[in-house]
Amino acid sequence: MSNCAWRKDSPGGFAVRRTLRPVAGHLPRRRFGQNFLADRSVIGKIVAAIDPRAGDRLIEIGPGQGALTQALLERIPHLHAVEIDRDLAGGLLAHFTPEQLSLHVGDALAFDFAALGEDLRLVGNLPYNISSPLLFHLTDHIDRIRDCHFMLQLEVVERMAAAAGNKTYGRLSVMLQYWYRIERLFRVAPGSFRPAPKVESAVVRMTPRRPLPVIAHDYGVFTRVVAAAFSHRRKTLRNALRDLVPERAYQAAGVDPALRPETLGVAEFVRLADAIAVC
Ligand code: SAM
Repeated sequence: MSNCAWRKDSPGGFAVRRTLRPVAGHLPRRRFGQNFLADRSVIGKIVAAIDPRAGDRLIEIGPGQGALTQALLERIPHLHAVEIDRDLAGGLLAHFTPEQLSLHVGDALAFDFAALGEDLRLVGNLPYNISSPLLFHLTDHIDRIRDCHFMLQLEVVERMAAAAGNKTYGRLSVMLQYWYRIERLFRVAPGSFRPAPKVESAVVRMTPRRPLPVIAHDYGVFTRVVAAAFSHRRKTLRNALRDLVPERAYQAAGVDPALRPETLGVAEFVRLADAIAVC
């Protein structure tokens, strides 16, 4: 059924493949962001960072040819995975038993992670073309997430983890740091993938903040303020947010309207958004 080179070599089922080999016949699909991990030491570092334990509910996004899946299944008996590419899905189903892998074939952007229960641990070498929408989609299920370990473009990880005042700090930093503690773990060179991407990558850990240190009264207003502020990051807050934030809201929030958006922390954006309602 599959184009992939999976080895079936155990009489009672499918043995976990011991060595990573190039996949015969499967041409990596650029539209699905297919850069397969081919470096065992990197795979080992990702698994060590996740530190999976029996009983953990792991969900891998984009298992591809199963390089990370296989390494995870050497530590835990079962995991879920969401894969959009039907050819690769066929290979995974041929290689792993149903006891090892529950495979959901489809688009992770439309996947209802809530259907998989609570205390979810998400992992994946993410397709870079959908990484930001996927990160935003996951915030819809934040109450069910224990943690996420993702490989992403280095530049995206730097934006996610940036502190206020940093030149890479922006909308992605504020919106994700509102929900998560974000740790950049380690860099991964292009040569660790087949085919090699044009950019460097990094592995990031995201841990939902519980309880949230600050809560926006109206999350929709908060997202609009942050989006508008960073669509004009060279302007002052007063100019960037002229249509959204009345002058007296700055005083109520204790925020200087002459500042640039990139100097404001998450809590200050929340205060500013909340102040709109009372001004
Ligand atoms: N985990 C594998 C590895 O590390 O070698 C593959 C990683 S590859 C960068 C990204 C994987 O995500 C591919 O298998 C691709 O088909 C899959 N993918 C791309 N878009 C997806 C989507 N919207 N939903 C689910 N999987 C997707």
